[in-house]
Amino acid sequence: MSIQQIMTQLIDGKILSEKIRAKIIEEVAALKQSKKITPGLAVILVGENPASQVYVRNKIASCEKVGMKSFHHTLPESSTQAEVLQLIQQLNQNDQVHGILIQLPLPKHLDADFLLDQVDPRKDVDGLHPFSLGRLAAGRPSFVSCTPAGMIEMLKDIGYDCAGKEAVVIGRSNIVGKPIALLLLAQNATVTICHSKTKNLSEKVKQADIVVAAIGVPKFVKGDWIKPGAVVLDVGINRGTDGKLVGDVDFESASKVAGWITPVPGGVGPMTITMLLKNTLQAASSTL
Ligand code: NDP
Repeated sequence: MSIQQIMTQLIDGKILSEKIRAKIIEEVAALKQSKKITPGLAVILVGENPASQVYVRNKIASCEKVGMKSFHHTLPESSTQAEVLQLIQQLNQNDQVHGILIQLPLPKHLDADFLLDQVDPRKDVDGLHPFSLGRLAAGRPSFVSCTPAGMIEMLKDIGYDCAGKEAVVIGRSNIVGKPIALLLLAQNATVTICHSKTKNLSEKVKQADIVVAAIGVPKFVKGDWIKPGAVVLDVGINRGTDGKLVGDVDFESASKVAGWITPVPGGVGPMTITMLLKNTLQAASSTL
C-alpha cells in the first residue's frame, strides 16, 4: 500500500464510550428492576495527588451517571499499611460494593503489590490482582485492566481482525503493556513486547500492523516508524510544556501514514472509565 492511497481514520474514543455507556445504563436499570441489585464501585484514594483526585472524581461522577452507586474513601497520606488493609477488608465484606479500585500510585511508604493482592478477586474491577492477571495469561475469562480492555473494544468497533497480524506493544507495565499484549495474543495476533532495553525499536515498529504505545514519553513514536495502513493506539497521557495533553505518538506525522489512529485526548483515555463501569456491572451481575 503506498502512502498516497491511505485515508487515515480517527478512532474516536468519546463516541465509542458514549455508545457503550448507553448500553450500560440500560443494563444497570434492568439489573435493578429484575434483581434489586445496584452495582456499586468503591474507590480508595490515599493522599492528595492532584492528578489522582481528578481521576477519582471522574470515576465517581461516571458511576453516578450510569445509575451505579459509588463509595469514595479518601485516606490521609500518612495512613499506615494496616489502616488501608482494614478498609479493603471492610469493602471485601460489604455486599453493596461489587468493585474495588485502589487509585495508583499509592504513597511510597505503602506496599502497593501487597494491598492490591488483598482485594477480593471477585471485586477486582481494575484487573490488577494476580488472580485476574493469571487467568488472563491462561486465556481464561477474567477481569481485564480497563485501558487494554478499551483498546480491544476499539479494534472490534472498527471491525479489525487481529488474526495473523504483527502487533508491537511498547511498554510492559502490569496495567497496560502486559495485559494488552495478552489480549492481542488471544485475538491471534503475533505479539512483540518492547521496553526501554529493546534494541532497534523503530525497526520493530516498522513491521507492525498494530502499534500500541504505552511509554509515558511525549511524541516518542515517529511517523516514519509507522507501516503504511497500520492501526496506531496511543495510550500516553503527557502534559506538554504548553499545558496541553499529548500522547506517546507524534500524531502529526503518524496520522499521515497510519490507517487508523487514536487521538490524545479523546482516544484511548475515555474508554478507560467506560471499561471500569463495564467491569463493575459484570461484577454485580455475577453475584446473581
Ligand atoms: P509505566 O511507566 O509503568 O511503563 C512505561 C513502559 O514504557 C515501561 O515498560 C518502560 O520500559 C517503557 N519505556 C520507557 N521508556 C522507554 C523507551 N525509551 N523506549 C522503550 N520503552 C520505554 O507506564 P504505564 O504503562 O502506567 O503508562 C504508560 C503511559 O500511558 C503513560 O503516559 C500513562 O500516563 C498512560 N496511561 C494512560 C491511561 C489511559 O487511560 N489512557 C491509563 C494508564 C496509563 P521498562 O519496563 O524497561 O522500564
